[in-house]
Formats: sequence, C-alpha cells, structure tokens
Amino acid sequence: MTEVQVTSSQERRDAGRLSGSGRFPPVAMPSLDYTDAVARQTAHLYERVKDVIPAIEWPVMAPYVKAINDLKQVRNAVILAHNYQTPEIYHCVADIVGDSLQLAQQAAKADADIIVQCGVHFMAETSKLLNPDKLVLIPDQRAGCSLASSITGADVRLLRERYPGVPVVTYVNTSADVKAESDICCTSSNAVQVVESFGKDTVLLIPDEYLAKYVATKTDVRILAWKGHCEVHERFTAEELLAYKEANPGLEIIAHPECPPEVIEVADFTGSTSGMIKWVKDRKPAKALLVTECSMASNIAAETPGIDFIRPCNLCPHMKRITLPKILDSLVELKDEVTVDPLVADRARAAVERMVNLKS
Ligand code: SF4
Repeated sequence: MTEVQVTSSQERRDAGRLSGSGRFPPVAMPSLDYTDAVARQTAHLYERVKDVIPAIEWPVMAPYVKAINDLKQVRNAVILAHNYQTPEIYHCVADIVGDSLQLAQQAAKADADIIVQCGVHFMAETSKLLNPDKLVLIPDQRAGCSLASSITGADVRLLRERYPGVPVVTYVNTSADVKAESDICCTSSNAVQVVESFGKDTVLLIPDEYLAKYVATKTDVRILAWKGHCEVHERFTAEELLAYKEANPGLEIIAHPECPPEVIEVADFTGSTSGMIKWVKDRKPAKALLVTECSMASNIAAETPGIDFIRPCNLCPHMKRITLPKILDSLVELKDEVTVDPLVADRARAAVERMVNLKS
C-alpha cells in the first residue's frame, strides 16, 4: 500500500501564497514493494505495454508506476511525456503525450499546480513559458539536446548584425534565450507556413540545418541556415535504409525532417513526430520503419499491434535520462524546478505565441 501524506485543498491554497517549490508541503517516499495489490492495481496499465515490455520487467516497474500515479493526485500534478519517452513512462504514468509544443499547450489547459516534464530541458522551459504560474519540474536537469545547445542568444544577435532586416525563425527545439532573440518560432510541421508568413524573399531558419534544407525544397523563399544537428536523426544513412527496404519487401519508410537530405530522399513520407504517428495510424502499412528516435516506434507499436515495425534503434541519450525512479523523486522532493528569467521569458513567450496565433 502506498503511503502518502494528503493535504486539504485549503492547505494547498494557503501554501500557494509561497513561491516556487516552497509552497507545497512535504510528502513521504512511498513503499516500492511489488505486492499482490500493486500487481492487481497496475494490471490494466501493463495490458497497454505487454507487447513491448517483457513480463519479467514489470514487477520492477509496477511499484514506481503505482506510486507515481498516486502522488500525482496528492500533488495535483500533471505529467507530460514526449513521444520519445520509454513506453512505461509514455503509456503508464503520462497524462499528456505529444511533441514539445503540444505538451506545453495542453498543460496550459490542465487544472494542475505542478507540471512534471518528461522530456529534455528546452521542452521544460517551453512549458514554463506557457505556464508561468505553475511549478515546472524536470526529473533530470542534465537532459539536454545537441540541437538546442548548438546555438545561443548571442549567436542570434550576431546573425542579426550580419543579415540586417532578415527575419529570424527559430525552431522550438531551442533554449528560451534563443527564442527571446527571434521574431517567431516554428515546429517541423508548420515551418514552411511560418517562413512564408513574412512575405520576404530571404529568411533565417535556425538552428537545424537539415530542417532548413528540407523547408527550402518546399518554398520559393531563400532560406539561410545554421549548422545545428540532432545527434539522433543525423546518424541515419540512405544506405542503411535502402538495405532495410531490400531485405523487407513492402516496407514503408517514414522520416523526420531533422534527417539528412539523402535520407529524406529515400523516405516514402516525411513529417513531424505527430505527422509520422498520424500517417502510420491512418495508412496502417504492413511494415514500417520510423526514421526517428527508437522509443517512438515502441510507443506506436504498443497502440498498433497489426503493424510490423522494423527498428534501427537510435536512442536519444538525453531523453533516456528520464526514468521512473527519477520521476518519483521529482514528485516527492519537487525537483528540479525549471525557471526562466522573466525578461527573457516575456520575449521568448511572444515568439512562441506569434507562431501559435499564426496557426490559428
Ligand atoms: S532527439 Fe535530437 S532534437 Fe530531440 S532531444 Fe534528442 S538530440 Fe535533441
């Protein structure tokens, strides 16, 4: 039985006058024994992942899953999980799943005091930007991103000096500091629309070089790029994908636009993470290979049992820093809090909101 200290809503309101994690009362670390009761109470969750998590691993995971789900109620917390999180997080403890922007937007609608971001640091910052009054936690502060760390706000200021008057469009996979220096943000699904929204002949689209090259094939606007790369997507090669196609007749290859151009050329479909998921669920190919982070195929496979997924496994080491034990620690100890300097936050939020308003 999980033991947690429950507080009344009045106590929570009183505590709410304090700032940061100090406004929430302490709770005890729950029991992590795998009992018959835990097995029974988590059986419906194992049902969701039984095709991708071996039964022998569940007794280790189940006590954490139970404790996290109990503590979410006590803390009035919501867990956001990116599509690249492992199946036990994505399917068993998350309240909202999706790409980074979908997560932050959905979190703004949630009646929660606390957001636990199961993803990387720039995603937690975006959640904080769109949810300034909520306590945003990331279970491992070290969960970074090769793309986000390829550029700084100072780099963007230098680009503006070098290309005066050229609009700066920043991919959401960037720090708040970089977003703050931008005219507008974009995602991989709306990048073409955002770039064309200025009505200018040249636009800076940073920092993902391959996304910029992909967008350049879809528009007449001249795109200036930055040499940032996602360390997961840049590892795929056209040769390996063609070899998979030859070995698996009828295989459909679905790529993310952060992949190198020669990889996109051999793909049957290219789209954002949510676009890839939609394509697979709508088309239901007999065999599919998702050219993206490894866990996403596992997460979709758990929901689409009829599809044979071929999986070249490129894991994101940053995403994999988030684990069930760290999520539980995060909820118990309210760590690590994600903050954004208010002056930076106002400008970064404006760049994100310009994109959201453009979309609608
Ligand atoms: S998958 Fe790539 S873009 Fe996403 S967090 Fe990992 S390194 Fe960054």
